[in-house]
Amino acid sequence: MTTNHRGTQPMADLHAPTGKAYIGGRWEEPASGTTTVAENPADETAITHVPACTGEDIDAAVADARAAADPWRHTPWPDRARLLTELAGRLRADAERLALIDTLDSGNPIAGSRADVAAAAEALEHFAGLGGQVRGETVPSPDGILTFTGRVPYGVVGRITAYNHPLMFAAQGVAAALVSGNAVVMKPADPTVLSSLEFARLADDLLPPGVLNVVPGPAAVGQRLVTHPDVPRIAFTGSVATGRRIMADAAPGLKRVSLELGGKNALIVFPDADPEVAAEAAIRGMNFTRTNGQSCMSTSRVLAHDDIRLELEELLAARMGALTVGRPEDPRIDVGPLAFRAHHERVTAHIDNAQRQGARLAVGGGRPAGMDRGHYLEPTLFVDVDPDMAIAREEVFGPVLAVLAWSDPDEAIALANGTPYGLTANVLTDDLGTALRAASDVRAGVVWINGPTPLPPGTPFGGMKSSGIGREHGLEELLSYTETQSVVVRY
Ligand code: NAD
Repeated sequence: MTTNHRGTQPMADLHAPTGKAYIGGRWEEPASGTTTVAENPADETAITHVPACTGEDIDAAVADARAAADPWRHTPWPDRARLLTELAGRLRADAERLALIDTLDSGNPIAGSRADVAAAAEALEHFAGLGGQVRGETVPSPDGILTFTGRVPYGVVGRITAYNHPLMFAAQGVAAALVSGNAVVMKPADPTVLSSLEFARLADDLLPPGVLNVVPGPAAVGQRLVTHPDVPRIAFTGSVATGRRIMADAAPGLKRVSLELGGKNALIVFPDADPEVAAEAAIRGMNFTRTNGQSCMSTSRVLAHDDIRLELEELLAARMGALTVGRPEDPRIDVGPLAFRAHHERVTAHIDNAQRQGARLAVGGGRPAGMDRGHYLEPTLFVDVDPDMAIAREEVFGPVLAVLAWSDPDEAIALANGTPYGLTANVLTDDLGTALRAASDVRAGVVWINGPTPLPPGTPFGGMKSSGIGREHGLEELLSYTETQSVVVRY
């Protein structure tokens, strides 16, 4: 860690060139010739300048990716896998520097950023290990005919990421596409692009030029990537609203689209659950200490049985009130600032609206006392929440938890399924039958029973209903970057 001119705050130790995009293995000035400021959300100071790319830069990156894709696909998969494994090793070797960059850029607590670096390396290693699974089958055929299938990469994959796990999404987002033989053009989320550029810097002398490209910029840059005629496959992580837009924009080109979208995830507490265990699960499930509650998989709705609800609410209020909010690089704090000002305003508006609609604020609700600079917000608990209130239905994507009551298991399932989302759920009970019934009735792509626990590498992840299309992290994701081709041979 280095220090800045005031000698008090940590400074990002950046190796990627300032204000440049990574295109075709070169560090390029954006076509616009302009940059924007990467801001530290903890104190609203400038960290550095990042390129303000436009559609022109996407066009350049796609052209380079297209040229690189064919030789890359003909590179034997073990060689591709070895390069990804080596890249993972570089992430691990540089973990502290990378974690600090993410923490300064995003506001995520340093412990969360360290976990993200580890997860980024793990994703590269995992998909490197799966490389040999990109294979086909033989089809029973008449004498004199041999029929087999193979899997062909798309060529250029457009990858668009969300801002809450910057480095982790950069690595997780490209690993499967690369090992299966595609070149990638990545557009990282504009509030947090630094570690994606550092990722490219670490890959620079490993991957052939054009195989990985990083083009930062606003929504219009992503839109150009989605509509580019030479990008047949789009992989997106972000909000439902943007996912919907991307699907529409990709439709004229009949592109293959996978979408990892938002959630309003339920933690269902059955009456036999231990209230202390439930409170602990609810706090962990919110990911306060990993991403300040800005997590698609946060269980932001606690659905508590009437027999346990009041005790659970008291425990939650006490524990959430005890979480310390502060500078995210300080390992003693629990929760850092939200990632950017507009998002702080958005989350605050959700809190105000919840109160207007009659939800009762049990803890938090505003800026911590004395913290006037930075996008800080107290962990916030709402009780007396009705299912039709916005706070019970809409994704807040911040440190805001709502408790809803139920008395009958069917009601609990109806509540859990009562939003358009379907990403994750968590069921707390010691009764196996109750747990498995609930798991099968809840429309969510990932269901924990007595979780949350970390998802083991390779666990398919993705949403039902409006929370997305496709599953990532496992074999299904790997194969999704390829198309089946049948070959029929007469001999
Ligand atoms: P967002 O949808 O605002 O932006 C995501 C990305 O899309 C950014 O890079 C943005 O620049 C780009 N973008 C915006 N408009 C676009 C367009 N029209 N065409 C192409 N690209 C466009 O989301 P966000 O605020 O960065 O992230 C928060 C959201 O992401 C939350 O809803 C959260 O739940 C979701 N998320 C989902 C997962 C998951 O795995 N399911 C993971 C993390 C975040």
